[in-house]
Amino acid sequence: MLTSETKQDISPLGSPGSKIDLTFKRRIAEICGENVMSCYQCGECTAGCPAAFSMDIAPNQVMRMAQLGMKDEVLESSSIWLCAGCETCATRCPRGVALSKVMDACRQLAVKEGKHIKQPNVLKFHKEFLRQVTWHGRAHEIGLMGIYKVRSRDLFSDVFSGIQMFLKGKLGLIPSRVKGLAEVRGLFKK
Ligand code: SF4
Ligand code: SF4
Repeated sequence: MLTSETKQDISPLGSPGSKIDLTFKRRIAEICGENVMSCYQCGECTAGCPAAFSMDIAPNQVMRMAQLGMKDEVLESSSIWLCAGCETCATRCPRGVALSKVMDACRQLAVKEGKHIKQPNVLKFHKEFLRQVTWHGRAHEIGLMGIYKVRSRDLFSDVFSGIQMFLKGKLGLIPSRVKGLAEVRGLFKK
């Protein structure tokens, strides 16, 4: 018998064997405070999204699938990792939904639940960025890029632009630390 919260796939949109998880929208709201049920599918977010062309599920479809409880499809999509957090969707949404926060909540859930990450290098970059912020209170660009390049095993793809930025003084060799470093580190302990 199907439970009210987790059912075998009954949606023609779902892939075979996937499950409907009706707790998905609640968990998103708990993490980021956004109510996906507010979305009425006008498509404004997708129309303005600069990254939508590269996503496997359009931003408004992410919202619809979250409403329907299609957790696996959303959490295993490339869309949640390709969202640039630019907030264009949030400024255009007539319902005041910050889709960038929903994407971020989905990234957190994907990592927590050990889902297959379609864009693993984005996750590596995220982790390294946060590590840098923990160390210095801000990102040290050369350190960030160096460690990211080693971890992603992509050593040479941006060498030329990196040299150009260095020569223009955009990349400092010595990391600088923010004044309230202890407070920044405290945020990570919460
Ligand atoms: S925040 Fe993400 S989903 Fe929204 S417009 Fe920017 S890239 Fe697209
Ligand atoms: S702009 Fe807002 S209401 Fe319209 S589809 Fe996107 S999230 Fe839904």
